[in-house]
Amino acid sequence: MKRSIVLAIVGTLALAVVVAQDTTMVIEVEQLEDNLFVLRGEGGGGNTAVFITTDGVVVVDTKNPGWGQPILTQIGELTSNPVTTLINTHSHADHVSGNVAFSTTVEFVTHETTKANMEAMRPYTGRTEPPVNVFEDTNGRGLPTRTFTDRMSLGSGADQVDLYYFGRAHTGGDAWVVFPSLRTLHAGDAFLGKRVPFLDAANGGSGVAIADTLQKAHDTIRNVDTIITGHSTQATWAELNEWAAFNRDFLEMVRAGRSAGRTVDEIANAWTMPAKYVGYAPPNTAGVRRNIQVIVDELEG
Ligand SMILES: [Zn+2]
Repeated sequence: MKRSIVLAIVGTLALAVVVAQDTTMVIEVEQLEDNLFVLRGEGGGGNTAVFITTDGVVVVDTKNPGWGQPILTQIGELTSNPVTTLINTHSHADHVSGNVAFSTTVEFVTHETTKANMEAMRPYTGRTEPPVNVFEDTNGRGLPTRTFTDRMSLGSGADQVDLYYFGRAHTGGDAWVVFPSLRTLHAGDAFLGKRVPFLDAANGGSGVAIADTLQKAHDTIRNVDTIITGHSTQATWAELNEWAAFNRDFLEMVRAGRSAGRTVDEIANAWTMPAKYVGYAPPNTAGVRRNIQVIVDELEG
């Protein structure tokens, strides 16, 4: 209704503005360093990192379907350097779908399991419908062209990016992306924020392994102060340690509940967010129950 009135008055000039408002793909830019930015957007999905190097731009994660072009447009306002490398922290549609807007000259880098997950785009744990698969009709455009197993470095000196894999957590292919010259890490949804995690066992995630994986990341990676989380504001290195402990406490709580003969529902109904985890979001009951079920299935399945 509003659109037709605007069009009638001012014609086609208004179209771009009104369509942009209708789709509400507005990128918000946060500058962390001279050459490192976090791009967010209401309804956009995961946090995008933009690392401007001497010759090119390294992008980490590309949000929901349709967000690739707005990300590219925003990058064009930050630098004239071309995007050379695109890293996806994991396979979920809210982190990879914008890939299809990027040039085929870009190197698309993921963990090897994430590549396999992106090629399959199978339903997430707790859902029966598969996620939107933007790669179905791109003839492979936007899918990973380079993978790593345990560790890989790209570039050198101030432009270096280090990729690590420490095991199963949110999915089976969570990459930890470090910008060593800036003492900053993009953790993807392996650390999505201070809240109950999403354990996507159907794509390799693990409620039994996640605490060990997080602790390994914390204890192995050195010289990082700032963590770009998957969906929240930045976190500190100490908060990663706390996040590992939170997940270990949750696992031990489930183990203790099962040892005491409790059902998944009984364990879920009895659990509340421990007071020592200050600033953690109030838990979603369905999410808590689902994670307990994932852990029980792993322990007893
Ligand atoms: Zn995710």
